[in-house]
Amino acid sequence: MRKFNLKNSTTANVASMSGYVPGEQPSTRAWVKLNTNEFPYPPSPKVRSAIISEIGADASKLRLYPDPLSSSLRRALEKRFGLPTGFGFAANGSDDVLNLAVRAFTDSQKSAVSLDPSYSLYSVLAKIQNTKFIEIPFKRGMEIPFDDVISSGANLLFFTNPNAPTGIGFPIEAVERFAKNFNGIVLVDEAYSPFSAFTAAPLVKKYDNLIVVGTSSKGWGLAGMRIGWALANPKIIDILDRVRDSYNLDRLAQVAGIAALDDEAYYAKMRVKIISEREACQTFFDSLSWPYFKSSSNFILFTPRDAGGKSGPKVAANFFGYLRSRKILLRYFPREKSINMSLRISIGTHVQMEKFKKAAKAWLKEG
Ligand code: PMP
Repeated sequence: MRKFNLKNSTTANVASMSGYVPGEQPSTRAWVKLNTNEFPYPPSPKVRSAIISEIGADASKLRLYPDPLSSSLRRALEKRFGLPTGFGFAANGSDDVLNLAVRAFTDSQKSAVSLDPSYSLYSVLAKIQNTKFIEIPFKRGMEIPFDDVISSGANLLFFTNPNAPTGIGFPIEAVERFAKNFNGIVLVDEAYSPFSAFTAAPLVKKYDNLIVVGTSSKGWGLAGMRIGWALANPKIIDILDRVRDSYNLDRLAQVAGIAALDDEAYYAKMRVKIISEREACQTFFDSLSWPYFKSSSNFILFTPRDAGGKSGPKVAANFFGYLRSRKILLRYFPREKSINMSLRISIGTHVQMEKFKKAAKAWLKEG
């Protein structure tokens, strides 16, 4: 007699875990969608041309597997970040790179560490493969507890810079301090660095334990194409190559990534607009006396206060619901205790941001 029981057939750690819950992706375009930090403008027109040209008249190239190494995209990344050949690696979104790092550098003996709050996917990836995950809270004023991280005993450090979901950017010296002193792999998740003043990319030439991870999803308008990357010493790239899917980026993603990297002028222009909307939104929060973290990203984590000046999880949930009922979508993290009194707004176009501000004023009036 077959004695199958799915729960018993699932590894204990996976049976007891919940998956990562991404931000809502509504099926219609009627929303003012400010919940997943996407780029509010289309990608460079060069991306469209490259994809159309790769498809060709009869799409027959799609019969053939793509370049398993994404070689041209890797070379374009190296050129872009001023690195020698062999330092670039491309993957199916930066989430894929994070997963590969957990797969390659952690197990039941080798743990991972991150600061708290930071990107909540890290702990989910660790759980999947029975890796102990250590979360070290930021100190007061969101200062980095360097010594606690360095003495954590972990083998893989996830350092999100700029941080998510606070948006705070840390100077390059912070990365260097970790790379110099941490006894393991230092992975700097730079998903939001296009909106800040710096990248740690040049440091990968100097530190053999440093991986700088980036994505085309936030700063390049290509979240729908799933293109992420890692920059690191070729010995680390070799390890990532061992554990990745053989064809981890499809043909269209490879050409789209190359085309985007080839149009910095377009992206520089668009980023100026986003940063100026971010600054205007912070000024708006100042005018309402709503606390927020000064952002180096394309989003702001802020704490709404009701008409009576009160804040807290209930107020945040109420404002989130009010906006949602008006088809304005922000991100709310009810299960994360350190930030459940706050909401995160992705920076959209001027029109979208004005709609948000108008709704916020109306909420205060009605409350
Ligand atoms: N890192 C951080 C800090 C993020 O917020 C995100 C997006 N949720 C990612 C990585 C993953 O981005 P993608 O997989 O789209 O490259």
